[in-house]
Amino acid sequence: MPPRLGIVIPCYNEEPVLPETHRQLTILLDELLAEQRITADSRVYFVDDGSRDATWSQIEHFSKLDPRFGGIKLSRNCGHQRALLAGLMTAEGDVLVSLDADLQDDPRAIKGMLDAHADGNDIVFGVRNSRDTDTAFKRLTAQGFYRLMITMGVEVVFDHADYRLMSRRAIENLRNYEEVNLFLRGIIPQIGFKTAKVHYARSERFAGESKYPLRKMLAFAADGITSFSVVPLRFISGLGLATCLLSLTMAAWVIFGALFAGQVVPGWASTVVPMYFLGGIQLLSIGVLGEYVAKAYLETKRRPRYFIDKVL
Ligand code: UDP
Ligand code: MG
Repeated sequence: MPPRLGIVIPCYNEEPVLPETHRQLTILLDELLAEQRITADSRVYFVDDGSRDATWSQIEHFSKLDPRFGGIKLSRNCGHQRALLAGLMTAEGDVLVSLDADLQDDPRAIKGMLDAHADGNDIVFGVRNSRDTDTAFKRLTAQGFYRLMITMGVEVVFDHADYRLMSRRAIENLRNYEEVNLFLRGIIPQIGFKTAKVHYARSERFAGESKYPLRKMLAFAADGITSFSVVPLRFISGLGLATCLLSLTMAAWVIFGALFAGQVVPGWASTVVPMYFLGGIQLLSIGVLGEYVAKAYLETKRRPRYFIDKVL
C-alpha cells in the first residue's frame, strides 16, 4: 500500500505565485498517483497566514475545482513557523511534506523524499545543494547563521530550511513540543528516528517578493539561538571571570610599580578606558540575560500559537 501524502504550504500574500504552484502540484500529484506511489486521497493543504490579498479566495477556487486541494485559514498573520505548525497539526496523511509557496524548493524532490520514506526513514530533510540563485548577501548571512548555530551546540541540518517529509509518528511526537518561540529546524532533529537527506537545487522565487526581510531574519536567528542554546549565557560568565582576573593582575602590577619602582602615573587612560569597557560588557550581558528572561516570560504564559478560522 502506498502512503497517503499531505503537502502543507504556508502562504502569506502569495497571490502572484499560487496559480503556478497549484499547476505544478497538480502535475506532481497526478504523476505520483499514476506511478502508484501515493493514495488517491492524498492532498495539498494551503495555510493562509492572514494574507491581505486574494490568496484565500484563490485557495477556495482551487478547492472547488479539485477536492485534492484543501485550505486552512488562520485568524490572523502568525508568522511562517506557526502557520507551518498549524498546517502540520491539522493536515491528514501518513506522511506530511512541508513546502514554501514560492516554488524556491523544487516540488519534484518530493519523489526522492518518498523513496527515502519507503526505505524506512521517518524524517527526510530537503537540503540545498547550491545557492547560486541567492544573492551573495543572503548566502553569506544564511550560511553564517547555520555555522553559528552548529558551533553553539544547536542540532540543525546545514542548509536545510523547512522543506521536509515527516511520517505520522514523527508528527505526533512534534505535537508534544509546546513552545511558543517556535524554531522548527531546531526541534525536528531532536525528535530522532531514522532520518535521511535529499538534495535539490534551490531556484529563485517564482513571483512576488520575499516575506522575510532582514529584520525578520535577524529576529528569527535570535529566536533560534536563545531557544536552543545557553552558550551566550556561559560566554557572559566566562567574560566576567576573565575581566576579574585581568583586573587583579593589573592591580598587582600597579602595587608592585608603586612600591618598588616608585612610578606614579597620572592615570587618566587607565581609569577611563576600563570604565567604558566594563560598562559596555555589563550592558551587553544584561541585554543577553534579558533575552532569556523574556523568552521564559513568554513561555510561561502558554498562549495559543494560532487560531484556525476555516478549514476546506
Ligand atoms: N510566510 C508565512 N507567513 C509569514 C511570512 C512568510 O506563511 O508571516 C510563508 C511565505 O508565504 C512562504 C514561506 O513562508 O511560503 C517562506 O517565505 P519567503 O519565501 O518569503 O521567505 P524566503 O524564501 O525569502 O526566506
Ligand atoms: Mg522563499
